[in-house]
Amino acid sequence: MRKLRSSLFLRYSLSVALVALVIAVMLAVELRSDMSETVAFLVALVALLVLLGAVTVWTQRTLTADLEELSGAMQRLILEGELDRMPQPRLAELNNLAQEMDAVASRVREDYRQLTRERDRLRAVLDNISAGVIVVNRKLKIDMINPVAEELLGTTGEYALGRTFTEIHHSPVIDRAIEKSRRGAVVNKEIQITLPRRRWLRVLASPVKSKKGRTTGVICVIEDITSRRKLERVRRDFVANVSHELRTPVANMRAVVEALLAGASEEPEAAARFVADLDRESKRLVDIIEDLLVLSRLETSGAAGEAGPFSLVEVVREVMREKEDLARRYEVEAAFADPGTEVPLRGDRNLVKTAFANLLDNAVKYNRPGGRVDVSLEQGEDSVTLRVSDNGVGIPAADREKIFERFYRVDKARSRDTGGTGLGLSIVKHAAEFHGGTVSVASTEGRGSTFTLTLPE
Ligand code: ADP
Repeated sequence: MRKLRSSLFLRYSLSVALVALVIAVMLAVELRSDMSETVAFLVALVALLVLLGAVTVWTQRTLTADLEELSGAMQRLILEGELDRMPQPRLAELNNLAQEMDAVASRVREDYRQLTRERDRLRAVLDNISAGVIVVNRKLKIDMINPVAEELLGTTGEYALGRTFTEIHHSPVIDRAIEKSRRGAVVNKEIQITLPRRRWLRVLASPVKSKKGRTTGVICVIEDITSRRKLERVRRDFVANVSHELRTPVANMRAVVEALLAGASEEPEAAARFVADLDRESKRLVDIIEDLLVLSRLETSGAAGEAGPFSLVEVVREVMREKEDLARRYEVEAAFADPGTEVPLRGDRNLVKTAFANLLDNAVKYNRPGGRVDVSLEQGEDSVTLRVSDNGVGIPAADREKIFERFYRVDKARSRDTGGTGLGLSIVKHAAEFHGGTVSVASTEGRGSTFTLTLPE
């Protein structure tokens, strides 16, 4: 700038010196001249002054225009991020200034590009992260919110930006966490919200610090832990259910053993009855444990045994033969509409066999004397449907979805009497899902049920 000033000063000084010189020369000439020469002198003087004025005005205008262009370009660069080069000034004296500004501009340009790159990277991370992220400033106004947080809290970025957390969601716990974090604390909480949907959230609020260590805002990371919570509850319930289910036969067995030890073993009739009880209860225990093992294998490894091609018709025939005695005992007639052709399937033969055996078992057991069970197979385009229909007791509508849950029974006493574990349909469901298939039920209470197992070929 100093250079520019001295250069302009030089230019003006030269012009003024030139004019002063011309005036001095003319005055000297005029001293020794007549009137007409005086007029000529005055004309020349006016012409020179006009010339000087014109030069001054031109210089002034060009200087202003150049400076305006330069400052405009600088403003566009800083405010709007326009990354053009600095304009070339017309006044040579401004060249240095333009060059210096260009150096500053290229620095700004580089910083700007880097900031843009970093901002895009951060945006991409925040848009693709599975947790919700909210950043609030020192005044507790939201500076940033990512799509997951928008979805979890039922808001939009457009609405949330510039507002406080309380304005976008009613959750005093999160609000307090943000407030505490602004004062420097790290807050970690698990909370339940009801809107926009009932969910469990884990909220981690931490202060954002500047280089000098001042808190400039708060970053709040929100994680949806609903399914984890649900799973924990299912697991807790399951452990409680298993303990309960195992305790019953074990308690019965202990009672029998105590009775035998107390002398019942000496009476042959009572002893025989007690031993039969022991036999029944221990079988029940084994059944429960075996069913639990099948379920646990299916759940943990996702695979039960070998998976290869097998004939479904053969499996059905085999199970029908194995359950003949059971059907006779329950006075139920079980029939299979044998298609007489092969129905090939790929999958775990043992698992499919267990699933069908469970369905047939139930159809016979939850029936009445003189009842019927009909088994049929239907080959679709890319799947096979196995239907087990009975005209037994049926299932009340309220229980229909729940019967596939572990240990769920409609009629507890009846299930116990028939030796049920409450795990049969749960195994059927897992077996269907393991093969990428489905199982469903249609039933009318008192009239009978139809279970449909569909397996992809
Ligand atoms: P369980 O070992 O008690 O039979 P399941 O998981 O196989 O356990 O079945 C769950 C419950 O569903 C049974 O207790 C029974 O109340 C009901 N259920 C299953 N199949 C039938 C059916 N064919 N007809 C009527 N009720 C049934």
